Amino acid sequence: MNSKAFEGKTALVTGAGSGIGRATSLRLARGGALVGLLGRTEDELQETLDEIQASGGEGIVLVADVSEAGEMEQAVERLVNARGGLHIVVANAGINGTWAPIDDLRPEEFDSTIAVNLRGTYLTLHHSVRQMKSSGGSIVVVSSINGTRTFTTPGATAYSATKAAQLAMVQQLALELGQYGIRINAVCPGAIDTEIDDNTRTRKQREAEVPVEFPEGDIPLTGGKAGTAAEVADVIAFLASDASRHVTGTPIWVDGGQSLLR
Ligand code: NAD
Repeated sequence: MNSKAFEGKTALVTGAGSGIGRATSLRLARGGALVGLLGRTEDELQETLDEIQASGGEGIVLVADVSEAGEMEQAVERLVNARGGLHIVVANAGINGTWAPIDDLRPEEFDSTIAVNLRGTYLTLHHSVRQMKSSGGSIVVVSSINGTRTFTTPGATAYSATKAAQLAMVQQLALELGQYGIRINAVCPGAIDTEIDDNTRTRKQREAEVPVEFPEGDIPLTGGKAGTAAEVADVIAFLASDASRHVTGTPIWVDGGQSLLR
């Protein structure tokens, strides 16, 4: 992939203030893209922008909650008006939410995971695709090994359901959007070292656990060590670039082989 693969492109990254979203924003900006840094927390987004600008890149802070339709519409419009057009979208913002047995998981906990992970993905695509239809482009949805290959994380029912649904959306939309030259793919990370665990609530996980014993070496490529956000960002950059121009409707697991064992 050419080092300035994203020159002249405008990209939107949701959840750009930390973890995979921040690493992806830095990666796309390094390739020459103007990056719309969308998230809920302004100071985190500002830190991402400072880092981008320190290495000569360009970004715009877009404060919005991905589950709020009006905020998302305004944020996408602001980005498109900055330079005209939208070519790359990374629907990444997500939460683990509450992991608990199904009879203990409260309706409002279920709803909040669905609102951020699934409605948030829908709203991101809903407002972006209208802007991309005339030019074509690439969309990458950040799903997970949970819900696509792995079903052994105790109590992660709501989370897994959103991640499975994201992959279904990717496959459905690959057909719908092909005629506009818009590709859409998913990355499915395994354990990645980010801030996500700080925002995870767990209750009575033991009750939801099946006592399976995983083989030695939970993550075969690394001997159990979690991956990095930059490792996921590199795969997202590949899917966002012309190097993957004949790839659409496809999940790529970025997990060091973890999901094949679990
Ligand atoms: P993270 O917590 O470090 O980053 C998530 C970002 O999303 C944060 O900046 C947060 O402020 C933002 N965000 C959360 N809710 C939001 C909302 N309603 N509106 C706007 N922004 C919001 O987590 P991460 O690990 O980088 O997660 C990114 C994506 O990767 C998620 O979709 C997650 O499900 C997925 N993922 C992560 C892992 C992992 O092990 N870290 C594994 C598989 C999948």
